[in-house]
Amino acid sequence: MKKLIAGNWKMNGSLAANEALVKAMLEGLGGAVPAADMVLCAPAPYLAQLGGLLRDSPIAWGAQDVSAHEQGAFTGEVSAAMLRDFGCRYAIVGHSERRQYHAESDVTVANKAQRALAAGVTPIVCVGETLAEREAGQTELVVKRQLAAVIHVVAHCTSEIVVAYEPVWAIGTGKTATPEQAQQVHAVLRAQIAAATQHPERVHLLYGGSMNAANAASLLAQPDIDGGLIGGASLKAADFLQIVGSAR
Ligand code: PEP
Repeated sequence: MKKLIAGNWKMNGSLAANEALVKAMLEGLGGAVPAADMVLCAPAPYLAQLGGLLRDSPIAWGAQDVSAHEQGAFTGEVSAAMLRDFGCRYAIVGHSERRQYHAESDVTVANKAQRALAAGVTPIVCVGETLAEREAGQTELVVKRQLAAVIHVVAHCTSEIVVAYEPVWAIGTGKTATPEQAQQVHAVLRAQIAAATQHPERVHLLYGGSMNAANAASLLAQPDIDGGLIGGASLKAADFLQIVGSAR
């Protein structure tokens, strides 16, 4: 399976900065087929711009969140069908920043994943433990609980999701999980997915948390790490392309 490298710009960017960043990435690729499948996830107002900049390019684009509801009186929300209307292929759901700052529960995250799938958008489902949970020996318990909620709701569509293991203590902190720590959790998630679908080989398991140009190769060399979800380093064209290049 070709690896998948997804960039999460978080709440960064402007029309001018996005254009410069995307142009630098496309120039850096130089028309070559990237070593990994690539996705960029932008803030909602910039999705249409991103779609335009990436038209006919090998880079797909995605949203950073999607509503758990189909449509209606949900002021400020963006539905999966609206994203799909613009040609959006991916949506991150359950990012730890959404779980932490917007009180998203496992059930909400599962419903978001389900809404995305129903509209033809691939959810990138984030799971991960906090530092306190890791220190209490609860890492497996937490990530399995988070993923089980999604599997329970999406059921026979489990093979169509992407899962990103993102230890909360490693996101934006510069502290990366060691390749061995990440692999250990990925193996657990792989087994959980294998028990839930007849096509576990279709599911990309991404690692995220301070992945950068220097540490990507050793993480991506692990047997159960099928790609990366990249925050900070996705805002620098050269770094992001180097990560993509490490995904062989
Ligand atoms: C993320 O936002 O999903 C992430 C992994 O961020 P960073 O790479 O900056 O740690």
